[in-house]
Amino acid sequence: MQINLQGKNAMVCGASRGIGNAIAMLFAQLGANVTLVARNAAILERVVRDLDTSKGQKHDFIAADFSKPEELKEKLRLKVNEPKVYNILVNNTGGPPAGLAIDAELHEYTLAFTNHLLCNQILVQTLVDGMRASGYGRIINIISTSVKVPLKGLGVSNTIRGAVGNWSKTLANELGKYNITVNNILPGATETDRLKQIIEGKASKQNHSIEEVNNEMMEEIPLARFAKPEETAFAAAFLASEYAAYITGINLPVDGGRTPSL
Ligand code: NAD
Repeated sequence: MQINLQGKNAMVCGASRGIGNAIAMLFAQLGANVTLVARNAAILERVVRDLDTSKGQKHDFIAADFSKPEELKEKLRLKVNEPKVYNILVNNTGGPPAGLAIDAELHEYTLAFTNHLLCNQILVQTLVDGMRASGYGRIINIISTSVKVPLKGLGVSNTIRGAVGNWSKTLANELGKYNITVNNILPGATETDRLKQIIEGKASKQNHSIEEVNNEMMEEIPLARFAKPEETAFAAAFLASEYAAYITGINLPVDGGRTPSL
């Protein structure tokens, strides 16, 4: 079994660093033409240069800020009007800041809803016709294990993840007949800037050292270590491939066993 994404066009969001970046790098290695999406054009230009082109793959990017959904819509319209059919979409962006649900201001919930759910909806609506026409669609949402069990101190994040999880399951029901699958990856603690910020935040709040927080977090993980972003990317590559053709509407935790439920 060898995953081959040659001839497939993939749009990977939040691709300038972390999990999205690892997915973009792997999809390119597997032969896909990749369109990166994130905010900073200069960084994206650099990432495009790092992507594998040994099989003639062509890569590009869209610089867009998910907190401005109308701008994203317009930039996508121009790109997808080329016309270019995308077969694979990875919905992913930065997670909401940590904090208790009870303390969060209304605008924090609105922003999280915009960045995560509304932008995902814009992306799917823009790409779905091409997926339908090509007969091959893979929508992969990078969410969080809080879809299954809320995480302490991540109130806004827990809330919005539930919404994205249910949106995704509903889409899986609606789009299956077009050979479009919709699945969620639920990362556990993964070595990225996001995890670094969360650990630093916990350390300063609890007056613990970074090492103490690391150890406390690892004690909750049966595999006793944090994930590498590449390990999440392997799961995404499988879901994007032809081998996952009969898998839709699922949550796939890549969390070292941390989630305390099935
Ligand atoms: P990260 O912060 O390292 O990377 C986020 C990416 O999204 C970057 O490319 C960033 O530029 C982009 N981005 C952020 N805000 C944006 C905006 N407004 N518009 C457009 N692009 C934007 O995050 P990560 O660790 O790779 O996590 C990816 C997702 O997985 C997040 O939703 C995160 O909360 C979730 N997650 C991460 C972990 C973890 O431990 N790393 C655990 C569970 C869930």
